[in-house]
Amino acid sequence: MSTDTQAKVALSLIRATGRTHLGNYLGAVRSFVTLDAREDVSCIFGVATLHSLTTQGDPEALRRDIRGVVLDFLAAGIDPERSVIFDQTAVPETLQLSWILSCLATAGRLERMHHWKEKKDKLADLGQAANVGLFSYPVLMAADILGPGADIVPVGEDQVQHVEFARELARRFNHQFGEYFKIPEVLEREAIRVPGLSSSGKMGKSEGEKATLYLSDSYDQQWNKVKVAPTDPARVRLKDPGDPQKCNIGGMHRILDQIGLHEAGALQWVNEGCTQATMGCFPCKKKLLDVMEEAFLRDIRERREKFAAKGDGFVDEIIAAGNQKARARIQPIVEGAMQKVGLITRWS
Ligand code: ADP
Repeated sequence: MSTDTQAKVALSLIRATGRTHLGNYLGAVRSFVTLDAREDVSCIFGVATLHSLTTQGDPEALRRDIRGVVLDFLAAGIDPERSVIFDQTAVPETLQLSWILSCLATAGRLERMHHWKEKKDKLADLGQAANVGLFSYPVLMAADILGPGADIVPVGEDQVQHVEFARELARRFNHQFGEYFKIPEVLEREAIRVPGLSSSGKMGKSEGEKATLYLSDSYDQQWNKVKVAPTDPARVRLKDPGDPQKCNIGGMHRILDQIGLHEAGALQWVNEGCTQATMGCFPCKKKLLDVMEEAFLRDIRERREKFAAKGDGFVDEIIAAGNQKARARIQPIVEGAMQKVGLITRWS
């Protein structure tokens, strides 16, 4: 972490609920790498172990996935000498702040969160009840953000509403108890939502193996998923024209174009090939995967293997060092917030 006190602070966490996927990478981790390289930004990236508990009930899998997320950070190109990589659980002060913020948040506001509505309905369809952690996690996320005094929060599109909520809570706190928290910003560019390969929703750890491209998959595993991914149902035969707007593969090509990974003319080639039925879905899918393979997938896979070969001890040392730095940053800010609301933090 930069010791420059003028540096902006960037903060973002990833849950340890399975392997890191393409949505996590394009929506968030790719921006982490860009921020990590900036001299004017001090980065704190974490494993959202407490958030993981909202959907994770398998302790063994959780322990494995915590280290897996850190390996993915390293494989993506985050340098632990420059950025803090930490475990959310190692900073208990975040929970103290979360409680303070939850006393400023209203249940009505949380009930209106897109994420809550979607998750609750999905669980209801399965005959399951949603837990309170799932309901209130945006408050914990606000504490994650405000605790280290983050200026920039790089997240995918699905989390933008929660960053907005953190801004609201910061303003409410400042209004009630006096100016204290900085008002954080979502990273200054259009947030991305990567669609699942075979679903109507976003790509996500809960969308199932077939809909999700994992960073740690081999090329062949990735291709086998992309190859069978559904496209516009109108494209039954090669000569049937399609609409790339109705196709998740088309959606991913648009994202590659948006973030500058497609060469000039590539998106037009995809769109014309589909709408004029001059190209089948197979070359369009191959192009998609191969552009990503060249741009980042191969490098990530190779680096991940190299880091994984160093063993758990290597990853654990990085987390332990990061935990100390993160706590040293967050603890005094939370203590100050506690004092602002009238809590007594030191009795002697
Ligand atoms: P998941 O949704 O897979 O459980 P997390 O909730 O841990 O992942 O999200 C970690 C980061 O990845 C967040 O910034 C989130 O916005 C981003 N993210 C997750 N899925 C996608 C997606 N399909 N497209 C874009 N960003 C995503």
